[in-house]
Amino acid sequence: MNEKQPISGWKDKALFTPGPLTTSRTVKQAMLRDVGSRDFEFIGIVREIRERLVALAGARPGDYEAVLMQGSGTFAVEAVFSSAVPPDGRVLIIINGAYGQRMEKICKTLKIETTVLEYPENTLPDLKEIEATLKSEVGLITHVAVVHCETTTGIINPIQKIGSLAKAVSARYIVDAMSSFGAVPMTAPSAYIDYLISSSNKCIEGVPGFAFVIARRETLLETEGWARSLCLDLLDQWKGLEKNGQFRFTPPTHALLAFQQALVELEAEGGPEGRASRYYKNYKVLVDGMRAMGFKEYLPAELQGYIITSFLYPDDPKWDFEKFYRRLNDRDLVIYPGKVSNADCFRIGNIGRIGESDVKTLLAAIREVMNEMGFHP
Ligand SMILES: *Cc1c(COP(=O)(O)O)cnc(C)c1O
Repeated sequence: MNEKQPISGWKDKALFTPGPLTTSRTVKQAMLRDVGSRDFEFIGIVREIRERLVALAGARPGDYEAVLMQGSGTFAVEAVFSSAVPPDGRVLIIINGAYGQRMEKICKTLKIETTVLEYPENTLPDLKEIEATLKSEVGLITHVAVVHCETTTGIINPIQKIGSLAKAVSARYIVDAMSSFGAVPMTAPSAYIDYLISSSNKCIEGVPGFAFVIARRETLLETEGWARSLCLDLLDQWKGLEKNGQFRFTPPTHALLAFQQALVELEAEGGPEGRASRYYKNYKVLVDGMRAMGFKEYLPAELQGYIITSFLYPDDPKWDFEKFYRRLNDRDLVIYPGKVSNADCFRIGNIGRIGESDVKTLLAAIREVMNEMGFHP
């Protein structure tokens, strides 16, 4: 990779966001053809994608199944809750950010019973409290759900430890790994995950259009008759894919072509380890540069992951996020508003087809805009 050039290769706006992300030119080019959904070549591509996803989750074929679902990431989260929790089930939801809260909202909407353990957005969940809750509600709690990288802040939750607590009480384990899968090395079996959820347009660097669930086969097979939705029926979607290799309803053909190319490029980069090292470098260059200008992160450094960083608003009357955002956007650099509930923040993502040179371009532009606007962080 030539770090002197922008690595996306096809320079539109650079997206420093939590998704959709900047994608490579070759990923975009993979979409420049039409394929029929019943085309044997397309069916082969879908099969290959599903096999690659199971391997990427560190699972053996047959132990886990990859189910692709039309829609954005949230559709797959809702597919899991609506399909995999029995009528008398109860989900322990561990929350420390907006995406954990969204899981609770999904369960409320579906009228699924929940027990909620909520923590401040800048702290890790309390493992002792989780263990005690699981023990006091043993037999009641059928499922445990948590977000891996809480994209609200960028904190990385201890999914393996929580998984072992869930396993100890035989609860099924659901992990929203939307913004970490493909870039934060982990395996589904070693974290005791039954349902790992992610989407096409995050760290695998595809385009939006579908999400996927990597499900433990045995667990998936026990969900017969539980689905509360036709479109989001995970088991039925899987059965369709198994029967004839096809989606039940119109598949996002172009997004799948792009995703297959994105998986090839992920492998060429050295898999999740290789990608992690590029993203980590992006993160490091970003925070060093931001700190040098006086910006402060919302999270304590020891909790901060390298996927996305929340920065506190500068305490200066000349600071104005909308203006700041627009001036960067005019320079083809896109950052993201904050989502933290108890502090004013903005976010900068380190993921997607961006590299050190892109981060340096962003830092230089931030300094320019800072001087133009006249604020001091
Ligand atoms: C991006 C993201 C989602 C899904 O968002 P969509 O807008 O539905 O794609 C869910 N959880 C986390 C942690 C995310 O980062």
